Amino acid sequence: MKRAQSNSPVWHPFHQHLLEPAPKKIIRTEGAHLVDERGHSIFDAVSSWWVITHRHRHPAIMNAIREATARFDQIIFAEYTHEPAEALAQGLIALAPPGLAYVFFSDSGSTSVEVALKMALGFFHNQERPRSRIAVLQHSYHGDTIGTMSAGARGVFNAAYGSLLFEVDTLPFPAPGCEQKTLDAFEHFCRNDEVAALLIEPLVLGAGGMRMYPASVLVELERIARHHGTLLIADEVMTGWGRTGTLFACEQAGITPDMLCVSKGITGGALPLAATLCTAAIYDAHLSADRSRTFFHSSSYTANPIACAAALANLDVWRDEPVASRLDALQHLHRERLAPFRSDRRFSNVRQLGTIAALDLAVETTGYLSEAGPALRAFFRQRDLLIRPLGNVIYLMPPYCTTQSDLDRAYAAIDEAADLIAAAA
Ligand code: PMP
Repeated sequence: MKRAQSNSPVWHPFHQHLLEPAPKKIIRTEGAHLVDERGHSIFDAVSSWWVITHRHRHPAIMNAIREATARFDQIIFAEYTHEPAEALAQGLIALAPPGLAYVFFSDSGSTSVEVALKMALGFFHNQERPRSRIAVLQHSYHGDTIGTMSAGARGVFNAAYGSLLFEVDTLPFPAPGCEQKTLDAFEHFCRNDEVAALLIEPLVLGAGGMRMYPASVLVELERIARHHGTLLIADEVMTGWGRTGTLFACEQAGITPDMLCVSKGITGGALPLAATLCTAAIYDAHLSADRSRTFFHSSSYTANPIACAAALANLDVWRDEPVASRLDALQHLHRERLAPFRSDRRFSNVRQLGTIAALDLAVETTGYLSEAGPALRAFFRQRDLLIRPLGNVIYLMPPYCTTQSDLDRAYAAIDEAADLIAAAA
């Protein structure tokens, strides 16, 4: 009989209960660490799925949450508003690339992207010149709802649901030397005025394998989009809040998307919240005496006031604390620690963007189901390191408070793991 490794009724995400060890129980978080019930301190080198930016339990953010709970719980966000959401919307607009004027709140990265897709189609629908196609980059990931899976790469993650997914126009990934092919494909798809929007992870494709591409490609994609009246949706759910070295990755290309999706680090990672920022043109296309043009999207927890208060505190952290110099320090540490791996033949494609470092373990079977993945994960787990390779792609994306000694421990373990995996293969 098939038996899971734990008796718990909890069904964990991205977890094969038949094969994986029982989940570790965490009793506390602190700085860049998770503390388990045995008292072991685990270095959270993936920022708990890329949400924790500054540190776990940043005191100012925790205080803001405590204070907000004295006045608020959840408030319906249709017909009603509240100060944390109003102030946060102003704050986000002030920080985002210029030209974004309105903020629609939701509660996860996936929903922020769903909202953007609906805004894009609604924009054209309401002007009676419907467009129905969405263009995306090969290897993209935008979430796990049916809509965002449709926009993301097809593969093992969504093979079972293929019949439910809608078709998209996929541009080849702009690998070095192939950038022009990406641009040409976009031009080609745009030529019939059917593409409503290009949905894109700026500068680095996260779950698709930490694939990085230059800002110049974004600049050109924006130019083509503008030429054809196609909207640009930047999914900064992962890249936002400093990960790529700047607050938003779009800044490095100097572009303003028509819609910007943010989540994860918006609250410093403390509470779930998301926002889709958009231009006045998109908002105006839904502004009408004809009520059928209303933007019909809601989720129960839209703009939860406690989460908004946490996000406001996060904006204060960005304003008041030396976040930029912390990012610089972490980038510098990565650069130094990655250097020896560049000439190491056990690895390939050693790369870095801001606070994200990645390298591919040279194994025969690559891809998400590469057996190297679970073997590496088990090895790191034994070492009290939370590192979750994407197949044979090993990456580190730690919180900004990470110390040199934690990072040294992570890089030493990567070095050691490569030999172990090679010996076992
Ligand atoms: N977009 C990107 C680029 C992401 O990396 C993710 C999550 N890793 C999502 C969207 C979906 O976010 P969530 O898991 O909060 O729904």
